Amino acid sequence: MNRASTTIAIPRAVLLDRDGTVIEDRHYLSDPSGVTLLPGAAQGLAALVAAGARLFLVTNQSGIGRGYFTEADLHACNARLGELLGEHGVSLADTAFCPHGPDDGCICRKPAPGMWRTLRDRHGLCAADTAMVGDKPEDVAFGRDAGLGHVVLVLTGKGQAAARTLGVPVPEGDAPVREPAPADLAARPDWPHAVARDLAAAAAWLLGRAGSQAGPGECGRTATSASSVSSGPSGHLHISTDLSRSEPS
Ligand SMILES: [Mg+2]
Repeated sequence: MNRASTTIAIPRAVLLDRDGTVIEDRHYLSDPSGVTLLPGAAQGLAALVAAGARLFLVTNQSGIGRGYFTEADLHACNARLGELLGEHGVSLADTAFCPHGPDDGCICRKPAPGMWRTLRDRHGLCAADTAMVGDKPEDVAFGRDAGLGHVVLVLTGKGQAAARTLGVPVPEGDAPVREPAPADLAARPDWPHAVARDLAAAAAWLLGRAGSQAGPGECGRTATSASSVSSGPSGHLHISTDLSRSEPS
């Protein structure tokens, strides 16, 4: 694969919710043996990586704050996820997680922007050139509020319920993806740019966005380096670098 020749085709960064988007949503998952990739997820992510995208997890993990499991348990689960993705040649560039509960008043629990801001500053991400994929209204709001160029709701996990909550049209028949009409999208800042049946469909849709939305002209071609780490905007934000392997250069 030649990543350098395809850098203008797709969003350069894809932020991924974890539970219900990449892996099966096990309520307050704390056991690495319970980490199970959703069908097609690894293949979809592999296609994004092959096209030059960097992948980031942004995950709310209030089970830590609620005392259901420890931060070490989370890291063990994420390491297992890294192993499973590695079998498909996929690695995550970085992982951000929020350990707080909904009443903790933190700035990192989605839809709050803390995890976006820290990943943006750490990796030199550009909003218009970044995608968010998730299965809850909070994921959609997180991406839309940050002004990300591509926000996709998947129908795996809690996605069906999310689509009903938002009232957004879903794919019909054999269609893998449905895009709201532009006028509807403009009127509904809480809607995603697309609803996809699963992560594989979301990845395929993103791969098909070549030059169709905000592109590199808006974002430039910033040379980013994981070594240019800035501290997070808040002591509440927890960022861990890499899961199990180094970022491809
Ligand atoms: Mg989720």
